[in-house]
Amino acid sequence: MDIARTPSTPDGNIEMADAAVEPKAPPEIRREDYTPFAWLVPATRLDFALGLEKTRVTATLEVERNPAADVSPTIRLNGDGLELVSLKCDGGDCAGHMMDGDDLVVTLEGDSHTLEIVTELHPSANSQLMGLYASGGMLCTQCEAEGFRRITFFPDRPDVLSTYTVTMRAPKKDFPVLLSNGNRVRMDDDGELLTAEWHDPWPKPSYLFALVAGDLVARTDHFTTMSGREVELNVWVRDGDLERTEHAMESLKRSMKWDEETFGREYDLDLFNIVAVSDFNMGAMENKGLNVFNTKYVLADPETATDGDYDGIEGVIGHEYFHNWSGNRITCRDWFQLSLKEGFTVLRDQLFSQDMSSAPVKRIEDVRVLRGAQFPEDSGPLAHPIRPDSYREISNFYTATVYNKGAEVIRMMKTLAGDEAFRQGTDTYFDRHDGEAATCEDFVRSIEDGAGLDLTQFRLWYSQAGTPKVSVNLTHHGDEAILELSQNVPDTPGQSGKKPMPIPLKIALFDRDKGTHAGEQLIVLDKASDTFRFPGFATKPVLSINRGFSAPVSIQRDIPGDELVFLAATDDDPFARYEAMQDLMVAYLVSASKGDLDEETRAAKQADIVRAIGRVIDDEAIEDLMRGELMSMPSQTYIMEQIDEADPARIFERREELKAVIGRELADGLRQLYQRSEKLPYSRSAEAKGARKLKTLVLSYLVASDPQGASALAAKQYENANNMTDRQGALMVLTGVDGAERTEALLDFYNRYRGNPLVIDKWFSLQAMSLHPEVIEHVKALAEHEDFTLKNPNRVRSLYMAFAANPHGFHTESGEGYRMIADLILELDPINAQTAARFVPALGRWRKMEPGRSALMREQLERIAAAPKLSRDTFEQVTRSLG
Ligand SMILES: [Zn+2]
Repeated sequence: MDIARTPSTPDGNIEMADAAVEPKAPPEIRREDYTPFAWLVPATRLDFALGLEKTRVTATLEVERNPAADVSPTIRLNGDGLELVSLKCDGGDCAGHMMDGDDLVVTLEGDSHTLEIVTELHPSANSQLMGLYASGGMLCTQCEAEGFRRITFFPDRPDVLSTYTVTMRAPKKDFPVLLSNGNRVRMDDDGELLTAEWHDPWPKPSYLFALVAGDLVARTDHFTTMSGREVELNVWVRDGDLERTEHAMESLKRSMKWDEETFGREYDLDLFNIVAVSDFNMGAMENKGLNVFNTKYVLADPETATDGDYDGIEGVIGHEYFHNWSGNRITCRDWFQLSLKEGFTVLRDQLFSQDMSSAPVKRIEDVRVLRGAQFPEDSGPLAHPIRPDSYREISNFYTATVYNKGAEVIRMMKTLAGDEAFRQGTDTYFDRHDGEAATCEDFVRSIEDGAGLDLTQFRLWYSQAGTPKVSVNLTHHGDEAILELSQNVPDTPGQSGKKPMPIPLKIALFDRDKGTHAGEQLIVLDKASDTFRFPGFATKPVLSINRGFSAPVSIQRDIPGDELVFLAATDDDPFARYEAMQDLMVAYLVSASKGDLDEETRAAKQADIVRAIGRVIDDEAIEDLMRGELMSMPSQTYIMEQIDEADPARIFERREELKAVIGRELADGLRQLYQRSEKLPYSRSAEAKGARKLKTLVLSYLVASDPQGASALAAKQYENANNMTDRQGALMVLTGVDGAERTEALLDFYNRYRGNPLVIDKWFSLQAMSLHPEVIEHVKALAEHEDFTLKNPNRVRSLYMAFAANPHGFHTESGEGYRMIADLILELDPINAQTAARFVPALGRWRKMEPGRSALMREQLERIAAAPKLSRDTFEQVTRSLG
């Protein structure tokens, strides 16, 4: 599954009985309590009589005792708010059965049985978007992690693998297309009623089950696998959206080819279907042979999708496709192992995207996501290891830690092993565990054996939470450069006194005069502190460290500004160069917002930054996409992370001031850059993408120093735009400034794209993320807009997730932003608990804030905690956030 990558949301209308859990504290589930299930379910038959209001499900389960587990006199079938219509054992009455909470527990005497269970569902009333639900007249499913138990009673755990045969019956006029996993084996059409039967030959856990029924059309194509198998590919969408599916289809074909070439993985069915759905909690879902996608990650054309949207689609299509091996063929033994499939698959999609575009720029983007989303998790009340030890609601663990840090951890294995040996490790893993429900430990051992590495100490990365801090001190003595490193893994809730972890650091030592180094080296810091000596330096070199972001750590060093300026202009590792630019700006903004600098020092440091950016503008050897990264300012959120008791208003002020200084001092260079970029016609080439990125970046600097002049330029860019990247970029700049240009552009944008929900989502987001002084008032008004609804997750995220990610609005001194988000959580929780719970971490950052805001944030968390009927999802996040 892919967590929605940018501000994105759920749907529904009737409060489900199970949305609220009666007992205040739902039980805690612990990894160490794992035991294998007492029964195997080798075959499952599902028969659906489909309807939007009412669907009847007949599930037939072949069950037999699991020889690898303790004998049990009963079988526990999980349910979640299900209506049991009837139950049969071997065609007759069961020896006994009872309800235990939502679960059905059946007494079974012999060694193998057939159970027939009939349940009745109400898809239109399912606002949680888990299980079977209705979205705009179609029916679809989402089962990961525990949605299948909302469809029928079943051992809904990933280690119970079964082959599925699915029959669907539905009125043809409403549901002309009926899809499920695997291959279609039968289709009957009596004119009014359609009957389709699907069979998936690959045993799978219930969370990979999927069904789609609706009035859909497909873009069809083919792919020939490396062994010559012909695969039919379909991307299913609503009529009218077909033209916007080309990029998704091309991305799919590239993914299939890449996985063969890079990991030796071939597709294993005759058919691969992707369906786009408007109401979806997540980004997309890797159901075997039938991927279900949020429309956001399928539909694109230049007029309506930005370059970022295109990249997102390619990445998510790749991600879900790669799960066919890392997730489906080898699945997780239990949900504590989620990073086994997600960390590895995120790494695979990152490597894929690196190969498809500019590798350094992709790496920078991935690190930015890690720092923006995962570092705050690691330093906050919700910190957990990539393999958690316990949970109350597994939906809360689809986190940046499990996904993005999980990917970094496996990337470090790749760095330590080298590319070839790492591939031998992954081959070993796929060979050894194909068809199994495996653990993170199985993965690590496979890499160890295949790559010939000792990962004994490395396993700490799976069990210890927190971002390691690495202190760096470089001295020079005689002809030796001496590098002293020490590490500290901070305490996190439930974990203290942590052990040192192996930290692979790529470094280079630059000769300051020549601007070169003698070669990159990989050193591993695996003790609390260590000293590395480098002979052959007549003078003190300049250290470039954690090149390529070789380890997900925070580097702490006292480096003179002029060395950062040197690295920013000279470093041959693009990431390190970017890092030097960021460090230069972060160091300044942190001390300036703390009020540590006098006027003179401030001006001198600003001048350093201006000079460094000036050199980036002038450097003809850099590609524009990279230039855009080097010129970008660190986000306010990232700066806040570096400060205890942060005052968001001061940081905002200093950051805007620095933008204005850059805009003013470099006005000529920036305008020239803009004019040059303007000349490139639209294409999807890296060069053209780079030019578009620069145009909006230049506008954002110019508008800080000259709001009137830049607004006029932005308005012109808006009007003349022949693609969404330019238009959205201009509108983004305009939303922050008062004036007629803002009003006109917003109105035009809305009227132009009224019928396109994905673009209207952008319209909501841009206003919620804006730097306008009245952003709170704007968000309030937007919540009352006729196009706003709490029932569509994309729309909720487009307004409120964007707002919660906008420190300028969310952290308003009065606390009104906090109140708005708390109100939203309380209102959304009964409708869509999963999405509601995702807003809690924003308030959970209260410990990092200055005392006034901190108290206001806590107050709102307490108000939520005191609400009478919280979902399990929100309950867990709020109580953990309060700590
Ligand atoms: Zn995934």
